[in-house]
Amino acid sequence: MSLKHNLVIQTAFLGDLILSIPTLKRIREIYPEDKLIVVCKNGLGDFLLKQKIVDQVIEVEKSSSQSYSSAANQLNQLKIRNIYCLHRSVRSQLFSAKISAQKKIGFSSLLGFWVFDDVIDFVPENPEVIRQFKILESTDEKTYLEFKDADFHFLNTPDHNGHLPAVPEYFSFHHSVNKHISAHKRIAIFPGSVWATKRWTQVGFTQLAEMFLKQNYQVDLLGGPAEGDLCRDIASQAVGARVLAGTLSIAESIEKLSEYDLVISNDSASTHMAAYNNIPVVSIFGPTTVAMGFRPWSNNSYIVEEKDLECRPCGKHGHNICPLGHHNCMKQISSSQVYQTAAKILG
Ligand code: SF4
Repeated sequence: MSLKHNLVIQTAFLGDLILSIPTLKRIREIYPEDKLIVVCKNGLGDFLLKQKIVDQVIEVEKSSSQSYSSAANQLNQLKIRNIYCLHRSVRSQLFSAKISAQKKIGFSSLLGFWVFDDVIDFVPENPEVIRQFKILESTDEKTYLEFKDADFHFLNTPDHNGHLPAVPEYFSFHHSVNKHISAHKRIAIFPGSVWATKRWTQVGFTQLAEMFLKQNYQVDLLGGPAEGDLCRDIASQAVGARVLAGTLSIAESIEKLSEYDLVISNDSASTHMAAYNNIPVVSIFGPTTVAMGFRPWSNNSYIVEEKDLECRPCGKHGHNICPLGHHNCMKQISSSQVYQTAAKILG
């Protein structure tokens, strides 16, 4: 029991987990001798092990209290230095309460004041990476100084070309990939999203794929198994596009992205995978806005959005059906608008 562990609880979606990587990497730097464990949602943790970002992953089934109890039992066999509870749900906070640790740190809430030894202010105006990273300020003086008097709100505002401001080096992914060189430029398109209203139109993605194919680009359509039909429908119109959706694990998809010159996606996990690999990314935002904090976290990130629609944003995640019935936040974005932004990046 002499070896110490640090535990991070992050049971949100894949995109949020990717945005936790700078925080995880900093914990490793602060405590190089300790083991780092992440508790995450079922099926999401493998890439963190493959990328050697953490030492151990414990996955929980979010609808199962038994799954949480068994994770807590497992963790209570270990000597835990710090628990960092990045996820702000009541369930994650109660889960933190069940685990023994020298110190527990989480974000401020009524329950948080009861569960945690250190309670950190959650700053909604900051980008998500910075919001999460702030949890380290009470255990890491260097991080505390980075935050002192700093204002990060500007990072959520794209310029007139949709280009987002550069990411501060201290909070970056600190990750580089060996770029594959190929004769043809390669475009990866992820047309899917868990939330239906966050998907740009199928017609838009099809026309975009056709535009790239005409210019002799290789176009691959990627995503999870649930997005296979959508990708096959697009490929049936955009003849020459390859369908890779459903053929790769999360870890394999992240690795695969190093082969591309550009990624085009909705505001979804794929946009964060591209940014993690530092592959230029065009992210199409509909019912959500960049101001909500979930921007792609790289210096080569571009946003396409319908800025003048008053109903945006209409929800934290988007919905499965547009509350107003028209879905204009996506329908009003044309394929030539997305193509022009992509063309600027590809030169
Ligand atoms: S209400 Fe507006 S922002 Fe929300 S899905 Fe409909 S069109 Fe998009």
